[in-house]
Amino acid sequence: QIYLDRIAKLNPALNAFVTLNADMSLADARAADARIAAGQAGALTGIPVAHKDIFCADGWRTTCGSKMLENFIAPYDAHVISQFKTAGTVSLGKTNMDEFAMGSSNETSYFGAVNNPWDASAVPGGSSGGSAAAVAARLAPAATGTDTGGSIRQPAALTGITGLKPTYGVVSRYGMIAFASSLDQAGPMAKSAEDCALLMNVMAGFDARDSTSLERPVEDYTRDLQQPLAGLRIGLPREYFAEGLSADVAASVEAALHEYRKLGAVTVDISLPNTKLSIPVYYVLAPAEASTNLSRFDGVRYGYRAPEYGDLTDMYEKSRAQGFGTEVKRRIMIGTYVLSHGYYDAYYMQAQKIRRLIAQDFEAAFQQCDIIMGPTAPSTAFNFGEKADDPVAMYLSDIYTIAVNLAGLPGMSVPCGLGSNGRPVGLQIIGNYFSEAKMLGVAHQYQ
Ligand code: GLN
Repeated sequence: QIYLDRIAKLNPALNAFVTLNADMSLADARAADARIAAGQAGALTGIPVAHKDIFCADGWRTTCGSKMLENFIAPYDAHVISQFKTAGTVSLGKTNMDEFAMGSSNETSYFGAVNNPWDASAVPGGSSGGSAAAVAARLAPAATGTDTGGSIRQPAALTGITGLKPTYGVVSRYGMIAFASSLDQAGPMAKSAEDCALLMNVMAGFDARDSTSLERPVEDYTRDLQQPLAGLRIGLPREYFAEGLSADVAASVEAALHEYRKLGAVTVDISLPNTKLSIPVYYVLAPAEASTNLSRFDGVRYGYRAPEYGDLTDMYEKSRAQGFGTEVKRRIMIGTYVLSHGYYDAYYMQAQKIRRLIAQDFEAAFQQCDIIMGPTAPSTAFNFGEKADDPVAMYLSDIYTIAVNLAGLPGMSVPCGLGSNGRPVGLQIIGNYFSEAKMLGVAHQYQ
């Protein structure tokens, strides 16, 4: 109730939540009370959690930030949602996001942008901007997010919270509305690495309903929180500290690295030579996958249908033309183009080959270091409208996060100070495959 009251007071200005349902939230809370009274509580029983509106949740409106799904009530739970239910958490509501998770500022949401709680003229980042703002403004102690090219880490950085994108395949994508299936991965967003570790204990695990879910032994993600850092080799990719990085972000990241050296870590210079190719590769592959994934929104099976139309083709065309926003249409057109006969080899196949080279860059780097650090984003939160009319400038705000998704690696963002404009800066920590527990420990020792 305390959180619902705080949401009622602050959400009208922040727009972090798109759907609230106090009755359903309080029913979850009463069920948790009963479990606690029966002595059957787990670590997170009764803890309120906000869910990105990309997760289908039984009985909850699930919009994915789009007019296309404005009135869609999900008839089942995503795996992530059912895991949280089993743990006994309380669902606080569904958080705002860029339409179909396409964006870096929340400005593409059909339900209006989210304000950054630190400064109302600043974007919260995207696409998980509602979850980030909700945690930053203490409207929720924890939230879920998804990250296809940076959508957990970049908004975490821009709002001063902690967020983790796990290794691809660690968290099931079942019931998570698909954007680019080979890149999409869900993860936790919270105040601290310790909280993210507790959330990971709930979210991770094999699920036969996602064919890319990995069958691995159950892990305790809190196990390395107290590990000392003496001798830890931190790789600093020279491409992440080059042209394009703003001076305040560089200064805060340097200050964090200084703390890590005091904790006994050593830094080594490394190179990820294909970094600059990650943006063009991503903007071939992600739209290609999106164009096929979004073909299901046809006005027939579910979602928006144009009120007036002629024949079947006209119904498809009008429903999609009216139901999707500009950025989504741009991605569908690019994706359809790169997959067309005659262009497939020139664009899609080339991008797949470079994707492999990008993964090999990381493989070589992890021969020289245990963990990689750098900035999460090139600047602190930018202002509304600043990049809205220039897609390429917007795409460049993900320059340090996208390669991690292309390689399938885990990455996180940890708050590391404020820029000269008073806006938060994020330190990015990138680990080798399945090193989430180690990364959370490395973050916790600093926090
Ligand atoms: N900003 C990137 C995009 O627009 C990444 C989004 C995401 O991770 N979902 O595609």
